[in-house]
Amino acid sequence: MQKIIAANWKMYKTRPEAAQTAAELALALPDGTPHGRLVLVFPPFTAVDAVAEAFTGKKNLAVGGQNFYPAAQGAFTGEISTGMLNDAGATWVLVGHSERRHVFSESDELIARKTAFALAQGFKVMLCVGEMLHEREAGQLRDVLSRQLSTALEPLPEALRGTLAGRLAVAYEPVWAIGTGKVAGPVEVQEAHAALRALLADMLGETAAELPILYGGSVKPTNASALVGLDNVDGLLVGGASLEAQSFLQIIGS
Ligand code: PGA
Repeated sequence: MQKIIAANWKMYKTRPEAAQTAAELALALPDGTPHGRLVLVFPPFTAVDAVAEAFTGKKNLAVGGQNFYPAAQGAFTGEISTGMLNDAGATWVLVGHSERRHVFSESDELIARKTAFALAQGFKVMLCVGEMLHEREAGQLRDVLSRQLSTALEPLPEALRGTLAGRLAVAYEPVWAIGTGKVAGPVEVQEAHAALRALLADMLGETAAELPILYGGSVKPTNASALVGLDNVDGLLVGGASLEAQSFLQIIGS
């Protein structure tokens, strides 16, 4: 399976700053990416078009939107549509990131609507899941992952379910590891990824084997290769360490 190394730039970088970092990435990857990996960048909305432009004609480099509202258009002040993201050059969207769930109170129900809407619009979806520390400590890891996956995927219409290979990736991001410098250990990562693979198989059958499961949470150049080498880890979703081109390039090549 093609591994995915994704950069979530969150609310960082002006348009010129984003264009500069994207240009550095494109320049450093003139003939594709190491190991044929897919490299995704999720910039802030104002820089999606600039990053897409820097990646024009580049094999295995693509751009995504960090968020959107699941309607074609309408009176939704402050929101952005998949049509607008498409127009700006995005082909992927993040859905269910823990900051959307916890800082912006996105519900499982909204995340389900967003997942179905984006897929129906032809977008590729990176669905983020992950437990909070108190949930892990209470032994609820599998229950939380199961709830987050099933609420997002089970309502998908049958016609969409058959098209998920190559269009859906899952990112496991334990909330306690995001931006904290605390990486989940190899045993914890493998346990969660194996659970996710099994849950996906229950829900989607054979397609589950074709869906990349990424790890995210305090990924750095120093720990990336160990993480990406673990069983069932098909890529990395990187926040802080993706902001500098050199650091992200080291992770891409790890
Ligand atoms: P981090 O963020 O790498 O800064 O921990 C990861 C994420 O939120 O996707």
